[in-house]
Amino acid sequence: MTHAAATFRFAPSPNGFLHIGHALSACLNFDLARQAGGRFLLRIEDIDQARCRPEFETAIAEDLSWLGLAWETPVRRQSEAFEAYRAALRALDAMGVVYPSFESRAEIARLVAERERAGAWPRDPDGAPLYPGQANRMEVAERARRIASGAPYALRLDMAAALARIANHALSPLTWVETGCGPNGETGIVPADPAAWGDIVLARKETPTSYHLSVVVDDAAQAVTHVVRGQDLFAATSIHRLLQVLLDLPAPTYRHHRLILDAQGNKLAKSTRATGLRELRRGGASHADIRRLVGL
Ligand code: GLU
Repeated sequence: MTHAAATFRFAPSPNGFLHIGHALSACLNFDLARQAGGRFLLRIEDIDQARCRPEFETAIAEDLSWLGLAWETPVRRQSEAFEAYRAALRALDAMGVVYPSFESRAEIARLVAERERAGAWPRDPDGAPLYPGQANRMEVAERARRIASGAPYALRLDMAAALARIANHALSPLTWVETGCGPNGETGIVPADPAAWGDIVLARKETPTSYHLSVVVDDAAQAVTHVVRGQDLFAATSIHRLLQVLLDLPAPTYRHHRLILDAQGNKLAKSTRATGLRELRRGGASHADIRRLVGL
């Protein structure tokens, strides 16, 4: 029997310059891959073509090389994998767990306000209101008519239908193996709670995928065995596990690491110069200084 090599990945979006939070994530993945005698991959998450730019991708490679990291080539670029996401979306659609919704952002905001006036309306773990619409009840002919008319739409996961589909699955109730921890110290076998996210967007008319769908498809396509990333994505793991079970993809082990916060206790932004790797390098910092700074 062959044993799959432990495979780690760092998956930045080229929509800005890397900061010390990225350095922590990238170095941790690299170190763990080394310790396991495994593989370290770089994945460029550039599905948002409006915000991602080639010069940021070049800068990412420069900064990571400067940190002393080396990764396998070719690098997977999400913008080159749209066909794989379309195939996953087709598979989900064939299961009857996907539907188009046609509300604009303004309409959604209005519906949420209406629901909130009538009582509390739930928010997802990131604080955004759950989808308030009822597009899953729309007649098939009406859906087809709107799509044919060129109306913009989002393809959503029908959470209730998806959960019903996996209810009798051997892996139900869903869990994941967490070797790091969540924001409240969750570790070990963690119960997944995808319902907390409501009917998430899987794709849009103009973009055949979303962060959640691509990350799950890519981790499987690249045979990633260990996902090591920031705690800000801990709650999203519930969605990733659901999609993995629906699509019959293997479950990696997860390790969510602490986030590096700024002096005000906020998440670092790619635009904050003080913590940018390029600025620190220009200011004379060495890669060893960066490792110390992030506590490695
Ligand atoms: N592209 C995501 C980010 O830059 C990371 C995705 C992941 O590690 O799953 O935050």
